[in-house]
Amino acid sequence: MEFRRLAEYYERLEATTKRLEMRDILVELLREATPEEAQRIAMLSLGRLYPPYVGIELGMAEKLAIRAIRSVTGASEAEVERLLAKRGDLGLVAEELISRRKAQTILLQEPLTVEQVYATFERIARETGEGAVENKVKLLTGLLAKADPKEAKYIVRLVTGTMRLGVADMTFIDAASALLGDVAAYRDEIERAYNISSDIGQVVRLVKVGGIEAVRSVRLRVGVPVRPMLAERLTSAAEILEKLGGRGLAEYKYDGERLQIHKDGDRVMIFSRRQENITHQFPDVVRMCSERLRVKQAIVECEAVAMDPDTGSMLPFQELMHRRRKYDVEKAAELYPVGLFFFDAIYVDGQDLMDRPLPERRSVLEEIVEPSEAFGLTVAKLVDDQGDLDSFLQRAVEDGCEGVIVKDVSPRSVYRAGARGWLWIKYKRSYVSKLTDTLDLVVIGAFHGKGKRSGWYGTLLMAAYDPKTDTFKSVCKVGTGFKEEDLERLKSMIDERVVPEKPARVDSLMQPDVWVRPEIVLELVGDEITVSPIHTCGWGSVQPNAGLAIRFPRFTGRYRFDKGPEDATTVEEIVEMYRSQLKTVVPEEGEVV
Ligand code: AMP
Repeated sequence: MEFRRLAEYYERLEATTKRLEMRDILVELLREATPEEAQRIAMLSLGRLYPPYVGIELGMAEKLAIRAIRSVTGASEAEVERLLAKRGDLGLVAEELISRRKAQTILLQEPLTVEQVYATFERIARETGEGAVENKVKLLTGLLAKADPKEAKYIVRLVTGTMRLGVADMTFIDAASALLGDVAAYRDEIERAYNISSDIGQVVRLVKVGGIEAVRSVRLRVGVPVRPMLAERLTSAAEILEKLGGRGLAEYKYDGERLQIHKDGDRVMIFSRRQENITHQFPDVVRMCSERLRVKQAIVECEAVAMDPDTGSMLPFQELMHRRRKYDVEKAAELYPVGLFFFDAIYVDGQDLMDRPLPERRSVLEEIVEPSEAFGLTVAKLVDDQGDLDSFLQRAVEDGCEGVIVKDVSPRSVYRAGARGWLWIKYKRSYVSKLTDTLDLVVIGAFHGKGKRSGWYGTLLMAAYDPKTDTFKSVCKVGTGFKEEDLERLKSMIDERVVPEKPARVDSLMQPDVWVRPEIVLELVGDEITVSPIHTCGWGSVQPNAGLAIRFPRFTGRYRFDKGPEDATTVEEIVEMYRSQLKTVVPEEGEVV
């Protein structure tokens, strides 16, 4: 396929914010592409070259892309900067400067293909070491020299990671299902293939090559991360037990980092909640698993918690941040050791356990985990009584945990990859009339700071995620809880993600000074949830023409790098929290509520 054609599709996608329209445009695009092109287009459209676990990222610094644009167009630095300030998007700058070139230089060229662009991006991404910067610029220059203005716009946006089409992995799942002619019939199977392969490009390619049969043939593989099963949340023991049919396995909810560990003979690989390969951060975990997981092959999950080496007690999540560095990880591992608490087994020695009920998976874990002080299963207790569940929660909190996760133990309690279902339910400290739980919200906009905060963003516009519509709905403005280093850090994180218009997946009535691509997840606490005429979260679900807002929100200091925007607190959870707040108002004697 010619790249020009893809650029046309991108323009059409950009012109709409409606999910169904986007899906239909993608169907047309996928229909026209060969299987290999479809795979690459899916990856590129999501701003990637490969699935996250491969660890090679597209993403060239803006200043390098500027050098390439200048060398193709002959524009001066001042001119590029002036245009960039005016247009706010380097893609548009490239489009404008290239359109000024003489027409015949372009006519003489062979048209660019998707394959060529992708292959050049691959070379750019793989350049490392000495001379890498020069080579990257050269490669991009070569590409832009062959591009027409519209192509240049998208090449620059793709390579600098600033595409803003508003399509997500789930939009591709919908499109791939529609391509087979029946969304309802095929969506679940296509999603399943994605959840166990974590590779949307591969799934799209399979749909093209062999239809639903090929999709069905996707199997778990050691070394390829599975998208994690997620938990819902409820606020009382009674509701939880009712939802689970009267009984469940309550487990401590540890406050650390989720690790998916793959063991293949002598080799141990560790993947994050977002499917990145983070093996290098945990040399100690690799050693522990080599010694203490008594299996040849396995995919298991645990929570890694920072431990105090002197007392053996659990430390706050932040201590794990020491691992996020390139050098001296061994030293960090020694100073800040971790304990591992295993809670699931997905695959063991040739057997896919995903469709087995939890009690069976847990007994496999018991067989293969050889415990030591810092290595074992999560503390767990089978409960069928509200009082027991509440006292177990109490114990968990006293032992330094965030709360508990109560899990379904019925025959239907499978491992549901990539999904929240009512099979795992979070239960944190009890809700009194105040909001004591934390929320993970997404930055969608920012307001310039004044006075002491001038030069930084003073207030951020935050949103919850709505999986039903795949949108981010505004729920509060937050300006409290930021230390000076946070303001500095957020300034650069936000500046990298500023977009000139409201992103397609953002739903907000409020207009911030700058719109921000919904990618940064922050942990907040608030006092309570109130009805609000200006925030779109839960619009109409509690009162007509009103949404919900967090009152007195504060940043807790915790950046949720481990969560993608789609893992943020959902609109439904906030509506549920609002309702449970109401329930905890104790009626006066004799009063009818
Ligand atoms: P949250 O991040 O608040 O949605 O809570 C779900 C997370 O809790 C999981 O992704 C795990 O990282 C973590 N977790 C801690 N203890 C457990 C447990 N016993 N079972 C499952 N997940 C756990």
